[in-house]
Amino acid sequence: MKRVLKDYEPLAGSNAVSQLKQLARDLVGAKVVHVNSTKAGGGVAEILGWLVPLMNDLGLDTSWEIVQGHSEYFQVTKAFHNGLQGNNATLTQRMLEVYEETLTDNANRLRIVLENADFVFIHDPQPAGLLERCNDRSGKWIWRCHIDASHPNRKVWNYLKGKVSAYDASIFSMPDFAQPLVHPQFIIAPSIDPLSDKNCELTETEINNTLQELGIPHDLPILVQISRFDRFKDPIGLIKAFTLLNSSVDARLVLAGGGATDDPEGDAVLEEVKDAAGKNDRIHVLLLPADAHRTINALQRSASIVFQKSTQEGFGLTVTEGMWKGKPVIGGNVGGIRLQVHNHYTGYLVNTPEGAALRARELLRNPVKRERMGLTAQRFVAENFLLTRHLREYLTLMSGLRRGLANYLVAS
Ligand code: UDP
Repeated sequence: MKRVLKDYEPLAGSNAVSQLKQLARDLVGAKVVHVNSTKAGGGVAEILGWLVPLMNDLGLDTSWEIVQGHSEYFQVTKAFHNGLQGNNATLTQRMLEVYEETLTDNANRLRIVLENADFVFIHDPQPAGLLERCNDRSGKWIWRCHIDASHPNRKVWNYLKGKVSAYDASIFSMPDFAQPLVHPQFIIAPSIDPLSDKNCELTETEINNTLQELGIPHDLPILVQISRFDRFKDPIGLIKAFTLLNSSVDARLVLAGGGATDDPEGDAVLEEVKDAAGKNDRIHVLLLPADAHRTINALQRSASIVFQKSTQEGFGLTVTEGMWKGKPVIGGNVGGIRLQVHNHYTGYLVNTPEGAALRARELLRNPVKRERMGLTAQRFVAENFLLTRHLREYLTLMSGLRRGLANYLVAS
């Protein structure tokens, strides 16, 4: 169902909504194009799913394009992604040719819409090379990096830096990720849509029915991690933590996720996870379809604790999703998870499977603490990670760029 800004007034307050309308006055009619590499799977698609319609509702003429490519191109861009997050990377001549050729094809397809736009938001490295192919561009181009780029592999970063330096601005999710670049950099954290199927209220009946359909008995406390099957999400580390925990506390672990169309490694990682889970019938590994938003909502709501035990993380929308549902979150002590999990208040930050097991045991044995942390977590999301705040920051940035803020910042 299409939602409009007015629908958010009961949650975000009418002042927040009227402030957005005021900010948008400057931008009514502006042509805005967002470009990423998938419409389904992962946090960027999740965000663009609400951002694009709400920008339109505010009177901006907003569209969403994706870059298209063959599997070899997505292998290259996954190597960029992993390299930006610090992995070793080999960039062969062939890989760079595949990247360049794919972007030339995409630029030929999208050139008119991109060159005529007032604002182009290019999300992540996959479409970054479009700018240099749009020589007659008239608008402001912003590179939006959603990845934990705090310690990038130098070869990968140097190559990508050559692509993004000419942008008018870039956006990172937290200050640690910012890089030496010649244009202004802005820090904007992601957010969730509290009214989406992923985050709306559900009845107990729907939650129980979902568990039943998935074959998960509700006889023990449930621990949930929702993620693409990606090694940086550390599903194997979480299984290790769960095995340690289960030697003293009874529980079930649900590891659920699907693929993203731009992530070629998912199948291999899923096999590794299934192997690690072995015959333990308390570990439920679920491969979900791309539109399983209500299922994910129900799983998060059924959880006693939500996990995001990543070893690198740009933000981790799943953390905010769990917190919004009143759950304490045990998260890896990395990247954007640190913005959301405040140790001992909204959950626990952990560095090892042992640490995760210890904190899970503590929380499972202490329902009062769990509830208190969950409520704090929910309030923290209401104050910081709902889409109204995110939209406000985007509009402010766009007005600033339009009025020459970028030139001012560079000059000063
Ligand atoms: N998600 C989903 N289906 C899946 C796995 C994840 O809809 O099978 C959603 C998840 O609920 C969250 C987003 O995709 O909204 C993942 O965002 P996050 O920032 O946690 O991780 P990313 O995949 O972007 O690294």
